[in-house]
Amino acid sequence: MDDIFSNFGDIFSDEFESFTEFGFKKKKVNRFKGSNLKIKIKVSLEDIYYGRNKTIKIKRMKVAPGVNFKTCVNCNGTGVVTNITNTFLGKMQTTIQCSFCKGIGRIITNVPYNANKQGLISVIELVQITIPKGVNDNGIFKIPGKGNEAPFGGKNGDLIIVFKEIPHKLFKREGNDLHTKLYISIPEAILGSRKKIKTLSGFIKVNIPKGTQSGKKLLLKGKGLPYNGYGYGYSYGNLIIHIYLWTPIKINKEQKIYFEKIKKNKNFVPKN
Ligand SMILES: [Zn+2]
Repeated sequence: MDDIFSNFGDIFSDEFESFTEFGFKKKKVNRFKGSNLKIKIKVSLEDIYYGRNKTIKIKRMKVAPGVNFKTCVNCNGTGVVTNITNTFLGKMQTTIQCSFCKGIGRIITNVPYNANKQGLISVIELVQITIPKGVNDNGIFKIPGKGNEAPFGGKNGDLIIVFKEIPHKLFKREGNDLHTKLYISIPEAILGSRKKIKTLSGFIKVNIPKGTQSGKKLLLKGKGLPYNGYGYGYSYGNLIIHIYLWTPIKINKEQKIYFEKIKKNKNFVPKN
């Protein structure tokens, strides 16, 4: 269809100038383009990490079977009508939008009973999409031609998908880095420990060095989200673990005696 219309060239150019009482005005007419569809979909950090596939349901306009159209005789398919009038300044040419076809240049001759005035019907379709790895919140992905179909055999609109990130229970996103909290016990902070940490790609073991302060950050390189690499493979952001000391609220008598004993020890006096 693109080839057929390219032959018309100038006749069907998208812009034409019309003379109005206010002067020349450029008017943009999308006679042969269906409108775009925009859809928002919710995605988890896991979806973004793995670049998962999703099936989405869309409602789009399609040309109904049996639609027929002919060239508008009033404007010969140009969508515009040119008049020449004699004024005191001489001959003046005015070009206005054809009122018969509303500037489309086509007239529908057969509209099936279930279609609208443009010969389109609404249909529900399933579309397979792959979430781009590392896509940002509000990131946009375009599927050309999957929007509404155009009447009169024109070009389809596009399907525009907007990704909305679902907040994660464990991870806070900052660009392609992830932040997470880890509580460790007082003995673990003093003696050091090995902890199992959840990442988006599974569990890993992390060493907590002895003498770890509350508020310390551990950096796990490459355990964040992938950067959207355009065919060059993926590199990843980091996972930053924020360490907090877990303080027990209730302790028993024995523990109380123990902590009373070490309370005054100079090793336990904070040094700012
Ligand atoms: Zn016309």
